[in-house]
Amino acid sequence: MSRHSVLSTIGAIMVSSGINSPPAINAADTTAAARTFVRDHESKIQPLEIEIGRAWWTANTTGKDEDFAVKEQAENRLNDALADAAQFARLKQIHAGQIDDAVLARQVQLLYLQYLEKQVEPALLKRMTAKANTIEKAFNVFSAKVGDTSYTDGEVRQTLQKSKESGLRQQVWEASKRVGAEIENDLRDLVRLRNDAATRLGYADFHVMQLHLTELDQTQVLKLFDELDELTRAPYARAKAEIDERLAKDYGLKPDELRPWHYHDPFFQESPAVYDVDLDRPFANADISRICREFYAGLGLPIDDVLARSDLYEKPGKSPHAFCTDIDRAGDVRVLANIRPTEYWMGTMLHELGHAVYSSKNIPAELPFTLRSDAHILATEGVAMMFERFSKSADWLRAFGVEVADREQYSAAAARMRRDRLLIFSRWCQVMFRFEVELYREPSQDLNKLWWDLVEKYQLLRRPAGRNAPDYASKIHIVSAPAYYHNYLLGQLFACQLHAAIAHEVLHDPDAANAIYTREARVGDFMKAKVFSQGRLKSWDDLTRYATGENLNAKAFAAEFNR
Ligand SMILES: [Zn+2]
Repeated sequence: MSRHSVLSTIGAIMVSSGINSPPAINAADTTAAARTFVRDHESKIQPLEIEIGRAWWTANTTGKDEDFAVKEQAENRLNDALADAAQFARLKQIHAGQIDDAVLARQVQLLYLQYLEKQVEPALLKRMTAKANTIEKAFNVFSAKVGDTSYTDGEVRQTLQKSKESGLRQQVWEASKRVGAEIENDLRDLVRLRNDAATRLGYADFHVMQLHLTELDQTQVLKLFDELDELTRAPYARAKAEIDERLAKDYGLKPDELRPWHYHDPFFQESPAVYDVDLDRPFANADISRICREFYAGLGLPIDDVLARSDLYEKPGKSPHAFCTDIDRAGDVRVLANIRPTEYWMGTMLHELGHAVYSSKNIPAELPFTLRSDAHILATEGVAMMFERFSKSADWLRAFGVEVADREQYSAAAARMRRDRLLIFSRWCQVMFRFEVELYREPSQDLNKLWWDLVEKYQLLRRPAGRNAPDYASKIHIVSAPAYYHNYLLGQLFACQLHAAIAHEVLHDPDAANAIYTREARVGDFMKAKVFSQGRLKSWDDLTRYATGENLNAKAFAAEFNR
């Protein structure tokens, strides 16, 4: 995770007073006006963003209410500045004109989207925020009740992970879905409010708008998801059949008697723990931060200064998650983590430090502030995921002094785990993405049916007989992080495609899926030249072609499973 992926566009909307283009002015005047605007923007916004970066860091490392209050105040100041209607009117006129300088034009384009997102009519924004809060509160106070017993979220998950009793599993699963019925009507209202905001700006609906604000096109993403569906259908069916066989045995059932409550989480978005493998044993005495330091130094992308500023181990009050943040876009890059000697934390640290190398540490300081960050959420997540993969390679671990007793067995088990995770997650993302596209396109359709049709088609789960309930509404992301899920999957496609490009062009290794690199400065050089040097100069789309020679596609991702 990177900080800006968390901050970005959650629930944000905008409305403008009109969509007609203002009168054109000549190119020289527009260019001059653009320069002035960018200068004004930087002098006002840059300090606010740095302040948020620092406040975010403090709040997450201490967990104190007063620090979270400081963070929220800083965020509000930034939102107010970006919502400034007069500033937006200036920017809109510049954006509609001709700018003679490509780098300046790129900045204006990105600033336009950034301000546009905040141009919400205050009354409408208030209604949307209130509606979203009502729903989130309902989620917070909800507990799944079976008879007289209440189950917290964690207890639901625990039951689904451990219990062998089909009857209890079904009751707990059904109870956990009841939150959907509680919030269903409010969610539909919220969807209509979001659509209202979007259509006033000339967008077909909220989903189309959210994608457009992040330089994505819904039709293009759907096409990519279709391609991915085609390429993963068979390997997914095979992987799921193996898992089903083991699950069925656990419950004394036949595979075709399995129902959604037989999987280990409420949505089957994660790989059930059906294989008896212990990937953690080799890490018992491993110094994970030392391994990361050596690895990135070997690529010519040292991160010693990042580690020195980071907060890497558990302590009371601190966020239990992991993220990387570029505080000032001038090299103050930090990682928050809670390292334990496990494979999970090896992968997570490689991931977070992947964000750290794709930051102002390696993005040229000459780029203007607006362009001095990663090209897109999918690009930085992709780079992080690309490096993360090596925690599952025994050969790679050995190169850094982690001895694995049976290397072949470890790598085979880890590869299967990775394959299952990626396939299961990709099919789950298909459901989420397509459901949200349809939800915003036509909120009054039969959403209960739509949800289960998608779940059956993409996840190959069986709908419980006669089930007609708003099960989609028990997924909080639809409320709190709308039109966002696709970024994870696009990031994974980018990760695999970039890794394959490195395997072929830098390592000259035809077997990309198994290619590893350890102390290869050539790889760091490639990343600097083809990715980091660009900052946000290029869109994600142009960057993908520049770095890999191809449009973003699903081939490299699928090639990892079709062997
Ligand atoms: Zn990440």
